[in-house]
Order: sequence, then structure tokens, then C-alpha cells
Amino acid sequence: MSRTVLPMLAVLLVIFVLVPLLTSAATADAATMAQSTAPVAASPSAGVSIAPFDVKAAVDAYLAKVPPDQRARSDAYFEGGYWLILWDFVATVVAMWLMLRFRWSTAMRDLADRMTRFRPLQTAIYSVQFIVLYTLLTFPMAVYEGYFREHQYGLSNQTFVAWLRDQAVGLAISIVLGAVLLMVLFGLVRRLGKSWWVWGAVAFIAFTVFAVLIAPVYISPLFNKYTKLEDPKIKAPILSMARANGIPATDVYVFDESRQSKRVSANVSGLAGTTRISLNDNLLNRCTLPEIEATMGHEMGHYVMNHQYKGLLALSVLAVIGFAFVNWGLNVCLRRWGGKWGISDIGDVAVLPLAVLLISFYGFLLTPVTNTISRTMEYEADMFGLNASQQPDGGAEVDLMLGEYRKLDPGPIEEFIFYDHPSGRTRITAAMRWKAEHLPGAAAPSGPTQP
Ligand SMILES: [Zn+2]
Repeated sequence: MSRTVLPMLAVLLVIFVLVPLLTSAATADAATMAQSTAPVAASPSAGVSIAPFDVKAAVDAYLAKVPPDQRARSDAYFEGGYWLILWDFVATVVAMWLMLRFRWSTAMRDLADRMTRFRPLQTAIYSVQFIVLYTLLTFPMAVYEGYFREHQYGLSNQTFVAWLRDQAVGLAISIVLGAVLLMVLFGLVRRLGKSWWVWGAVAFIAFTVFAVLIAPVYISPLFNKYTKLEDPKIKAPILSMARANGIPATDVYVFDESRQSKRVSANVSGLAGTTRISLNDNLLNRCTLPEIEATMGHEMGHYVMNHQYKGLLALSVLAVIGFAFVNWGLNVCLRRWGGKWGISDIGDVAVLPLAVLLISFYGFLLTPVTNTISRTMEYEADMFGLNASQQPDGGAEVDLMLGEYRKLDPGPIEEFIFYDHPSGRTRITAAMRWKAEHLPGAAAPSGPTQP
């Protein structure tokens, strides 16, 4: 799913951090605005026949290819993102508090009640108002984060009008999916009472599966044009790698992300029959074949190791805990402040801002957990990609491109808390370690090129 819809959907489906986790396999894996340069310049492979290959020196040589000013800029961009996690959380808390404190939420509920007597429809009408109001209240943050900041760091190509258009499409999707989900959830609350949260979690998981399933076919094309990759010089080796790894693909998809961004990216999206591997046009235009192969090997790793399903499983566990927490929090808060806010019980749809507040708190605290689940799967995909593509230098070059927007060399605690993908240093170290073990004379059982 596109980066623009995801945050929005996540918020509006009342799930914040949980969806990015699930779709981590479907998000951009590599990004850059820089042209890829030939690996020869910094590749220490020239000396390998005489001296043992020094992995750390090779990694340092790769990292040193990025000029200091560029490093400083991408560090600043990424570290700014740490604060944005906090400010986004604060913005949501303030928006929700305003809706409760000034009874905007109950006013929206009353309006919905006047419009129809049919309860599910009342919930839907309230949901639309809520989603629109939430979008308006957090719009300044969204403009800064999604538009101005991206341009400030040279990562975006979009005009403001084009950006707004994408936001509008994202809002429309959120309204439709959000209203349906909330009708189901409030229906469960009213029917089941105290035990609603168990079935609520089940409904939420089923709904997420549905959204992920339809995304490649019905959602992603609303933001980008998807075409089949035609160039046989690129298509043939990618499909060969797919066949070699048991992936029954006959097509690779290309999408025109250059409309939005200068980043290079590829992803695996969908589930079951809709699963597909896509790469963006930036990747196609800026990368060499070994770099493309390294990236596609990584994506195939997500596919072969069933990361979409494992992500769903992790999401399910977190969702059950999250729903239990929200149920508890709603009851505690309503006992205390329910009268003041004009909300009597959790079956009242006007309670939604409080639920969103609690979920965003849960998601905020869970940041290191969800990042670690994602990062672990990304590292697995890296290992798979190295073995599948046998392109450690191509991989290292792509990892450097990520350094355009992801800090290359963080501390270990920083990486643990904030990174949903491994850092550049971690990934390049893995690539150079793979390379060292596959050089002629290495103690490895047999290099793939020398069977
Ligand atoms: Zn990945």
C-alpha cells in the first residue's frame, strides 16, 4: 500500500501502529535520490586474492562513499522522524481531547441520530463526520510531514495539488473502510456487551486480511499506475530467480512512483491469489542490474518466508491485547469523565475519540515492539536475498541509497527502538560477511559460483 494511504488508514481504522507492522513487507524497502555508482570504487575486492577479506574495512569503505554533508542531511531527516512519532501522538491526543471536552463528538452523534433511526446507519454517519473532522484537525501536521518536509529534504517530486489529490483519495478510502469497520465494531459492542472486545479483535483481523487482499487490485492503482515489466534484459533474470526459488510468477509489476517521490522502492503486496512483487520506476531507472537483482531477491524472501502471514499472526496477537486494553480503558475513563463528556456507555458511538486516544497510546508504547517484529523479518529477507541474488555488492549499493532517508549508522539502542528495517551498517555488514564467506579460499562449503 502506498505511504500516503497507510498512515491515514491506520489512524482511521483505529489502529495506528498495527497496520504498518502488517504491511511492513509491503512498504518501500529501498530509497534514494542519488544515482547509483559503480561498486568498484569502494569495493575492496581488488585485494582479496592476497589478504583475507576484512569485513569491517569493506563496510567502512562503503559507508565512506556517502559525503559527510549528505550523511548529516539524512541523519537529520531520520532523527526528525523520531520526534514526529511523539508529535503525531500528541496531535492525536489533542484532537481527541477537543472532541470530547467540547462535546463535538456528542454533537456529531446527535446529528447522526436526527438523520436516521437505523442504528448501523447512525454509526456510519457519525464515522464519516469523525474521520473528516480528525483529518481537518491534524491537517497542518499532515501538510508539514507529508509535503513540506519531504521537499525540504529533496525526497519528493510532487506539486502541492498532486499531493492534495492523493490525500483526498486516501481520505475517501478511509471514509469507506472506516465506516464499515466501525459499524461492525459498534454492532458487536451493542450485541455482546462486556465480551465485545474478543469478537471485536476477530472482526478487526478479518477486516485487515480483507484490506490487504484487495489492496493490490483496488487500492494501490488509485495512487499509481501499475504495468507489467517488459524489458527482457531485466525481466528474464528476475523471473529466473523467482523460478529458482519456487515462486510461480510470470509477471513483475512496475509502478510510477516517480509521480510522488524520488525514492527507489519495491514491495510484496496482497495475499493468496492477489500476491505480487512490484518495483517502482525509480528503481528501474536508477539502479544497475545487480542492484535490482539484490532488491528483488530481498522481496522474494518476504514471499517465500510467508512474511505477510507471519505479520498477520503478530498483528492478531497485538490486536487481541489492544482490544482488551481499550475495553478496560474505556470503562475506567467513562466512569470518571463520562458524565462530563455526555457519554453514558461504550455502546455510544460518541466514545470513539476516547477509543482512538487509547489505541494511539497503545501504539505509541508499542513502537519498539512493532519495529522489532518488522526489522527481524526484513533482516531475514536480506539473508534470503543475498543467497538468492548472489549480489552482495549490488545489495550494499542499494543499502547506501537507503541512506538518503534512513540514518546509516545508528547506535544499537537507537536501531532497536526506531528502525523498522535494519540500518545501512547492519545490512552492508551482512552483505560483506556473505561476500567474505563466498570468496575463493573461504572456508565455506562451496560458493554458489563455484559449485
Ligand atoms: Zn523488505
